[in-house]
Amino acid sequence: MSNPLAYLHDQLEQWKRDGTYQRLRVLESASAAESRFDGKNVINLASNNYLGLTTHPKLCAAAIAAVNRYGAGSGAVRTISGTMSLHLDLERRIATFKRVEACVVFQSGFAANAGTVSAILGPDDHIVSDELNHASIIDGCRLSRAKIHVFAHKDVAAAERILASLAGAGGKKLLISDGVFSMDGDIGPLPGLVEAAEKHGAIMMVDDAHASGVLGRNGRGTVDHFGLHGRVHIQVGTLSKAIGVLGGYVCGSRDLIEFLYHRARPFLFSTSHPPAVAAACLAAFDVLEEEPERIEALWTNARYLKQGLASAGFDTGISETPITPVMVGDAALAHRFSRELFEEGVLATGIGFPTVAQGKARVRTIVAATHTRGELDRALEIFSRVGKRLEILRG
Ligand SMILES: *Cc1c(COP(=O)(O)O)cnc(C)c1O
Repeated sequence: MSNPLAYLHDQLEQWKRDGTYQRLRVLESASAAESRFDGKNVINLASNNYLGLTTHPKLCAAAIAAVNRYGAGSGAVRTISGTMSLHLDLERRIATFKRVEACVVFQSGFAANAGTVSAILGPDDHIVSDELNHASIIDGCRLSRAKIHVFAHKDVAAAERILASLAGAGGKKLLISDGVFSMDGDIGPLPGLVEAAEKHGAIMMVDDAHASGVLGRNGRGTVDHFGLHGRVHIQVGTLSKAIGVLGGYVCGSRDLIEFLYHRARPFLFSTSHPPAVAAACLAAFDVLEEEPERIEALWTNARYLKQGLASAGFDTGISETPITPVMVGDAALAHRFSRELFEEGVLATGIGFPTVAQGKARVRTIVAATHTRGELDRALEIFSRVGKRLEILRG
């Protein structure tokens, strides 16, 4: 009998021939500045653990205390019987932190984006979206069945032209951008986008997954960074990156949040966070306010690594944040670069199509507040050595 899934095997074999087949690296320690993967200790430049909070004693203690008091799981989706006081405490904490009326927490940032866009828009509506917006935004847009209008990366004038052309179109309009773009590390042009949205009566939404805990005062995100409080209707953030745990959230008006309680499908149809997750996230917001030096250390390290890579001769693209790509071009070469860096003691992810455009493959680094100068110097030395060997660096 023939196997109806045989085409999957054929595709996998093709990826192996292309050099783009990816074996999962297995983490055998905590996620930290140096971690153990596949039996090898390496400098970890591949996590989103910007502030080192995955292993922060306050987060770990809060998680353990929550398990002891409330158990391992929440038992249900939020709308049935799975709303715990810890969930509400966390949402109030985030709303206060972000200076908005209300907040709802989802199981992940992905669920927050996809669940929100698909809930608030329908087939008669229009979405104006940056071409490099995150996959979870794109999926949310598709699920909404609204008409999707994509503008060139960070091109405010192009976004505005689209909004202007929709003036008589009817339906609601949503203008949406990442706050920080995850593959290039550049910052979205929020002031211009906000103005365009206001001029054309569009809903303004920002996905701050990589800005939460990184940009703005105490890590409040891009809205705070640009001083746009009150002018962005929907702010999405993640609890999975700098916050160090797991989850996503949506901040906005009380009406928006209550509407999502009723219509956001991940909220209605998927179980809420275990108590340990909610409690650890709550502790993380205390840490953001009590230990601002972590964010300073993150930016100091980011500048140091970026300068070191650039002065070694690498092309670090258009990064403005701790996400620093090393541009390679060819996907197979980027993956080989990543593998050989690993053999020498650095974990940095090779990224190719379809995560980035064809010909724009890269090795992406994300430095953390917790990397020591010694670790960064060692990483830079390894990057140079392997870069020369693979002729990514000339001379
Ligand atoms: C990582 C990321 C997400 C998803 O966040 P999770 O909490 O990991 O699901 C959403 N948007 C952007 C821009 C991201 O980088």
